[in-house]
Amino acid sequence: MDCIFCKIARGETESEVVHDGTDVMVFKDLHPKAPVHLLVIPKEHVASIAHLEENHAMLIQKIIYTAKRIAKEQGLAGYKLVFNVGRGGGQVIDHLHLHILGGWKNEEERAINV
Ligand code: 5GP
Ligand code: ZN
Repeated sequence: MDCIFCKIARGETESEVVHDGTDVMVFKDLHPKAPVHLLVIPKEHVASIAHLEENHAMLIQKIIYTAKRIAKEQGLAGYKLVFNVGRGGGQVIDHLHLHILGGWKNEEERAINV
């Protein structure tokens, strides 16, 4: 499939990989909007949260638990987890991804628009 995140998942497009699991992958966002900005994706192509089916329950669980684990490994004291859903929600890449954002020094720096 001609999808940039599928290509990253298959290792066909370069990315700064932080975690490469069986079903999910974590890599650095190309245009970070926070000192730490990572993306958690399923390796399977799912377009967005709006496209989730009942059989994706374990997958979405894995995505969130992976985000929690990686955030801890990255030493983030606190962080934001963001799913943009559809163009109206600011989603640009049509492959499900969870943004992990953190590492701000103060509240002012935390004012972001993902
Ligand atoms: P969205 O707006 O769809 O929720 O977020 C897509 C994110 O993917 C953006 O933050 C953007 O910077 C990031 N991005 C787009 N293309 C690439 C790419 O080729 N590699 C990586 N690592 N990140 C990308
Ligand atoms: Zn894809």
